[in-house]
This record gives sequence, C-alpha cells and structure tokens, in this order.
Amino acid sequence: MSELIERIIESINIVDFISEYVQLKKRGKNYVGLCPFHHEKHPSFTVNPEAQLFYCFGCGKGGNVLNFVTEFYCCSFNEAVQMLSERLGITEKKDPIIEFNIKMAKLFHNTLLKSKRAQQYLDSRNISVEDAKKFNIGLIPKNFSDILRKKDLESVAEKAGISKKLSYVLAGRISFAFIDQLGNVCGFAARTMENKEPKYINTATSLLFKKEKMLFGLNFIKNKTKVYIVEGYFDAITCLKHDIPAVATGGTALTVHQLRQLAHFDKVIAAFDGDKAGFKAALKAFKNAVITNIVVSAVFLPEGEDPDSLIRKQGKESFLNLKEFELSDVFLNIINKLPANKAVKKLNRFKKFLNSVHTEYAKILRKRLEIENITSLRNSREKDNEFEKHLLYILFSDKKILKHAAEKNLLCVLSPNAQQAVKSYLETEKLPQDCPYTPLLAKATISPASKEIVTKTVKLLQIKKTKMALK
Ligand SMILES: [Zn+2]
Repeated sequence: MSELIERIIESINIVDFISEYVQLKKRGKNYVGLCPFHHEKHPSFTVNPEAQLFYCFGCGKGGNVLNFVTEFYCCSFNEAVQMLSERLGITEKKDPIIEFNIKMAKLFHNTLLKSKRAQQYLDSRNISVEDAKKFNIGLIPKNFSDILRKKDLESVAEKAGISKKLSYVLAGRISFAFIDQLGNVCGFAARTMENKEPKYINTATSLLFKKEKMLFGLNFIKNKTKVYIVEGYFDAITCLKHDIPAVATGGTALTVHQLRQLAHFDKVIAAFDGDKAGFKAALKAFKNAVITNIVVSAVFLPEGEDPDSLIRKQGKESFLNLKEFELSDVFLNIINKLPANKAVKKLNRFKKFLNSVHTEYAKILRKRLEIENITSLRNSREKDNEFEKHLLYILFSDKKILKHAAEKNLLCVLSPNAQQAVKSYLETEKLPQDCPYTPLLAKATISPASKEIVTKTVKLLQIKKTKMALK
C-alpha cells in the first residue's frame, strides 16, 4: 500500500492535478487560487510545486495530492488511493464492481437501441437516442436474471447491489446510471414505463453505491461554478441539455453527504416545489446546509411544474429567472408568519439545533438571531486545541530544533496524539496517513515560521514543562 501511495505522489504533478479543479496563478515560487474548500474572494489557497504540497491560509486545509482528493470528494484516504491509482493505470486490477457496472451500462443501452417501445417512451419525455447515449440511459432487459446467470455474473451482481430477486424487479425498466466525478459507474436507478408503483427502484447499497451520497449528473458539472439541485433525473437531464449545470437527488430529501460533494461550487441553488411540501423540504435542506457550512439558495417552482416541464413549456430563461432566496431568509419568513407562541417554540428548537452545530454558518446565524451562548467550556477547549496546532506548525518549521526539543523531552506538554505525530515525523520524515496534523506540516513546508519564533516557542515549551512539574 505505502509503495502505491509513493508511486501516486511521484507520478502526479500536484500543480497540474489541482489546476483541473482550481484556477491557479503563479506567485513567486508558489501557485495560488481561490480555495475549493471555503468561500473566499482573495486567493489564499497555495500550491508549492517544489514540496508537492498545498495549503490554504484561509481554512487551514492542506497536504499532498491524496489529501486534496479526500477533501474534494469527501472520501476516505483509501478511496483516494484507489481513485488516483486507477486514473494512473497503476492498479493491478480494476474494481470488479466498477467493471460489472460498466458492462451493465453498455448492456442496458444496447437493449434500449433494440426496443422501439422504450425509445417511444423516452421520446415522449423529449429524450432522443443520442441524449440517452450521452446521459447513460438504457433499458434493463426482460431476461436480465437469465443473462446474469448465463454469464456467471450473479455473485458480482450481488456485490454490486443487484440480488437475484432485485434482477427480476428491475427487468423491463428504464435505467439511469449514477456516475461519480471520476467517471465510475456506481449504481443505477430504474423507472417503470407503465406507471407501476414504485415508480423508481435503485440498485441496493454497495461498497461503491451509497444512496445518501449519490447525485445523478455529477459527471456533467465539472469546471462549473454554479449548480442547481433538482429532484428528478428528467429534470436534471433537461437542465443539462439546456446548459444549466444540475444534479438530481432522485426525489429523496437532500442529505449532508450529497451537499458536501457540492462544497466547491461558488453557488448552490436548490429547486423546490412551490407548495407546502416544497417549503418543508427547503427547511430540511436548510438544516443540512448549516451542518455542512454551505450557503444554499432556493428557487420555488410555479405550482404544478417541475424544472423539466417549466423549461420545456416556457424556455430555460423562465427557470433561470426564478427568484432566488437564501434558505435562512426562507426560514425566518416562515417563522414571521406563524402565530407568536408557535414562532417562539420553533425558534427555540432552532436555537438548540444551532448550538449543536460548530460551523461558521451556524455561528453567523446565531449572531443573526442574537443567541451567541456557546458554553465557555467549549470555547476554552477549542482555544487549547488551536494553540496546540499553532505550536505544531511552528515546530514543524524547523526539524533540527524540533528534534532538539524532543530529545530534551519538552514535547510532554503536548497532547498524546500530537506527540505521536511528532515522533512519527522525526522517525520517518512523514506523518501517518490521515493524520489531522498533515495540513500543519504542509503549511510549515510552504511557509515556515522564522527561526526566531521557533526558538521562542521552544523556550515556551520549557517554561510549560517546568510549570507542569511544579503543579
Ligand atoms: Zn480554504
């Protein structure tokens, strides 16, 4: 594994890689750009080609190319290793589930090409055969389970979320492929052509396909700064066909995991129905926006319309011109319309919720509602934590002095986790995978603290240690 990690880091030029996601400009020996992990107007996101590391002076995220991928795609370190090794073609084998899914997407599409009836159905939804190809729409064959059995694919199908039982249920339905931002086919949604209930059935959760995480259309919105979140697959496709970047949730409430994948967009706009249910859904989305620290705007559709029908009937401008509301305004508007006692109750519940969330967005809202009442305990604990991080950044800036401090046993004033990280760094020149202090090491490499500050800090450690001994 670690050999693979080294190969990935050696093979990928971090400047080229990050340039695919962030517009970078050369500044001195570094490159800078607008951070994809927090909102900013002036670039504090820095990439150092020499060290092959990135660091954001705004939000403190940093590390190597693998750390970038874990942050950007909200995935685990191992998933990042897999993604990049596949991209480089240095993995021994492609994931069998991905291979199976690619095969199935092809099979479904070829089946569609042979079915007049399915083509007619799609035509009634304004989707041509070319559209179907572009958006990976297909038809699941009637004898799907036979095909799986004959081709000896039943066991991998099971792993990919298609049990034998499900293969019968899926047969004869229109398929939509979920493709992630790296182009992997992760799973499928299947729609009936006969208005049978349920209208949609998804392939089951698998290692690759987590429904609460998946968004349809993610592979079509690369390099965009703004994105619409819509409900249905047909809504997303109609938007995309009209050059409106959009992803579909598939009709479920917007989850935290889905939102996190959209964190790097400058603007996230969710489209809701203009009825009571739509407002309810907007409030749910608002809570998740606060949790994920992503400011989400909302547009409300005219009653009886969805983005697909609206754009088809009245043109894309009618959709793009829908009035946008920030979700917090939607919330406060609803509160303002309630009778006083109900409003107070609802507001109190919301305050409780805000106090349980530690994002910048929650902080701003607390201020807005004048309810800055975080316990002093949490504050002081956070301050301690921040102080230690600052110490580590300074210590990482000069390896010689750090070594000296370690030898004099001055690091005993740090938390056990921090001590462990320093030990590993001194022994191997590296931090353990997934170490929370990786951004600090990146920061120290890109912009080390001055020798004077490092020396002062070591003196401070000495004083702290003495104080601890006297206690
Ligand atoms: Zn940042």
